[in-house]
Amino acid sequence: MEKPVILTGVRSNAEPTLGNLLGVILPMVRLQRKHAKDYNINFFVPDLHSITTHTDYVSLYKNTINNVKLIVAAGLDINDPQMLVYRQSYIPAHSEMAWILECFAYYGELNRMTQFKDKVERIDFREELNLSLNNYLQMQRKFGENYTKHEYIDFLAMHFAGLKSLVERQEKEATVGLFNYPILMASDILLYGAKYVPVGEDQRQHLELARDIAIRMNRDFGNLFTVPEPWEKLTQFVAGISGVRIRSLKHPQFKMSKSVSDPAGTILLSDTPEQAKSKVLDATTDSIGRINYDFKNQSGVSNLLQIIGILENKTIEGVLKDWQEQTSYVKLKRAAGDLVAQFLSDIQKNLRSISDQDIIDKLSHDEPIAALKANATLLNVQRAVGLRPIINDYPSDARN
Ligand code: ATP
Ligand code: MG
Repeated sequence: MEKPVILTGVRSNAEPTLGNLLGVILPMVRLQRKHAKDYNINFFVPDLHSITTHTDYVSLYKNTINNVKLIVAAGLDINDPQMLVYRQSYIPAHSEMAWILECFAYYGELNRMTQFKDKVERIDFREELNLSLNNYLQMQRKFGENYTKHEYIDFLAMHFAGLKSLVERQEKEATVGLFNYPILMASDILLYGAKYVPVGEDQRQHLELARDIAIRMNRDFGNLFTVPEPWEKLTQFVAGISGVRIRSLKHPQFKMSKSVSDPAGTILLSDTPEQAKSKVLDATTDSIGRINYDFKNQSGVSNLLQIIGILENKTIEGVLKDWQEQTSYVKLKRAAGDLVAQFLSDIQKNLRSISDQDIIDKLSHDEPIAALKANATLLNVQRAVGLRPIINDYPSDARN
């Protein structure tokens, strides 16, 4: 019998952060160590997802290879025969399946995805707003209350030019790909019958969408898909270390993200251990003076506790036992900073010893195997929805 599949990936749009490392990569390493032989593990680079937001296209391919290097440096054994490593765009079934799933997902469902809204809102329109505001202030200064009709029209034209360019930019920045990507993600999961999909908390809604689509299509067409485990079961399975949300060190109300420019709040893979430590030492905390795990009122402190917990491989209760009697934020920051610096330094050392050739060899070996699995699921779905014949009423066609 086929073993259950654990599947995850990290976009190659920008340099990975501590959020990616602690949210998915480290949990995968621990899962592989804990469950060797019981599961098949798929790690893929969702390079098609990487272009849903503007990126440095010249570096994309290199970043994709580097993402695979990173998982090796973090400790995943890619030579384990139960592990498949592949690039999404090298397996066309992902996009074909996504199209079919799009026809069974609803606009309203996608419209409720909060990550799309977050990402669109985060696009920085301050420049345009300032332009528009400056135009307005200039006109007020120049003409006071007594401007003529023409001057007034000029003012309105300038004011609206600013606003128009804001709307135009918003329309351009929010691509259809960004809106649709949760469906491509559903395809990534369902093609391989993945049961466990360790992801950060920001992906919870998308995982639930994949489940909803699978359940809906299973109801309509019989058992087409393995339904991935729901969020609670997933987080139990990864023993509480996945499903987390590492926050920005400077703005702990937001998650740390690789596509957001927040240098003091974000620890990048290429930060030197010293830089990383000093960012942790400068982290925003609060003036309460107690160490509690309470993201609502003490998000900075809770973020540090979370980081310590993951790196020490302890539950949050275990970490609290060590810290809740203490009151020194400086001590807490030092402990977190030392752990982060050591963790980065180990990964960076390992990264230097891995060659591009090793990675390309593994990908070239695994991608045809992954494609066979993906194509088999795709064919079942194509048959179910009438794109390929089911019964042998038709002359046989080698391609079916
Ligand atoms: P982007 O801002 O470009 O979307 P990202 O940092 O969100 O970048 P992704 O490639 O979108 O990274 O996500 C890869 C994986 O990392 C996902 O499983 C996601 O849930 C997880 N992840 C991303 N950020 C965090 C975070 N701050 N804490 C925990 N997990 C995270
Ligand atoms: Mg993301």
